[in-house]
Amino acid sequence: MQKQDNIAEKFCAGKTVFSVEFFPPKTEEGARQMLRTADRLRGLLPDYVSITYGAGGSSRERTVEYGGILRNVFGFNVMPHLTCVGHSKLEISEMLKKYSESGFKNIMALRGDPPKDSPEFVPNPDGFKHASELIEFVKSNFPDFSIGCAAYPEKHPEATSLDADIDNLQKKIDAGADFMITQMFFNNSHFFNFRQKCRKRGISKPIIAGILPALSYKQALNFRKMSSSEIPDELLRQLSAAEDDADAALIGLEWAERQLEELLAENVDGIHLYILNRAESALKLSRLLRGRHS
Ligand SMILES: Cc1cc2nc3c(=O)[nH]c(=O)nc-3n(C[C@H](O)[C@H](O)[C@H](O)COP(=O)(O)OP(=O)(O)OC[C@H]3O[C@@H](n4cnc5c(N)ncnc54)[C@H](O)[C@@H]3O)c2cc1C
Repeated sequence: MQKQDNIAEKFCAGKTVFSVEFFPPKTEEGARQMLRTADRLRGLLPDYVSITYGAGGSSRERTVEYGGILRNVFGFNVMPHLTCVGHSKLEISEMLKKYSESGFKNIMALRGDPPKDSPEFVPNPDGFKHASELIEFVKSNFPDFSIGCAAYPEKHPEATSLDADIDNLQKKIDAGADFMITQMFFNNSHFFNFRQKCRKRGISKPIIAGILPALSYKQALNFRKMSSSEIPDELLRQLSAAEDDADAALIGLEWAERQLEELLAENVDGIHLYILNRAESALKLSRLLRGRHS
């Protein structure tokens, strides 16, 4: 069993903390791809990795299984994600107990999105309505966990305004979240504006910038639909003019690299790479981060 570290403590060193996000695969080929990527990434020593929890709570067992593999086989410091979707407090408590007893030290606490066939989030009658309630529960009952929460530089799609969303982010921090990881963004000015607003409001916890390379025109449009993130016209223009898939991937990676360079120059607390279990883009961006901050 690999020793797990408390992520919140890593921000004290004053360096940009570097992490990557995996998702639990659904097929055998998907599993092979994820494991190959994990194997190739381990030499680059990310400070931690996270593993998502399927939309609608659909991948509960796979998050536990692959979280364990990332930790025990590859030696990563792992932060499993946990959402409130469909779960009672008792079920959530059992999950947290399992993670705690097997030595995990970190948890990404989220409300979660509703299942695909449901237009809006409906809390379990014995569960939690907002991520802040889950965070409060973790803090009270499992105080040794370091807790991450989600943040949205361009506001959460359900929020009426960015300021209203930051009011709700404040509730997550007050409930005990130790750091925030942002939704993906492709235009750094949204991140800098958001960070400034948070700091002005007195939210001082680390804000980790979530970066995802858009590797094709179609993928960029999908991300926009999924996250409501702005895709700059220039990026869309370049992706639509790409000669082939390899050319488009290069364009998306170069865009992400420029974002990283600028974020690092502005001393961001952390960079979280949404790697979609893909090795090539993950390696290229991780090398850039390690080269700059090793
Ligand atoms: C880094 C990151 C990782 C993610 N990982 C996963 C994952 O693994 N699995 C998954 O299913 N989804 C994941 N998501 C998506 C996330 O679950 C959705 O965006 C979800 O819709 C909101 O989750 P949240 O934790 O931000 O919710 P909340 O913080 O509860 O916010 C949801 C909405 O409710 C509002 N709100 C919050 N508190 C209150 C309150 N007290 N009163 C009124 N309104 C309130 C907010 O402004 C926001 O509009 C992730 C998102 C990010 C950014």
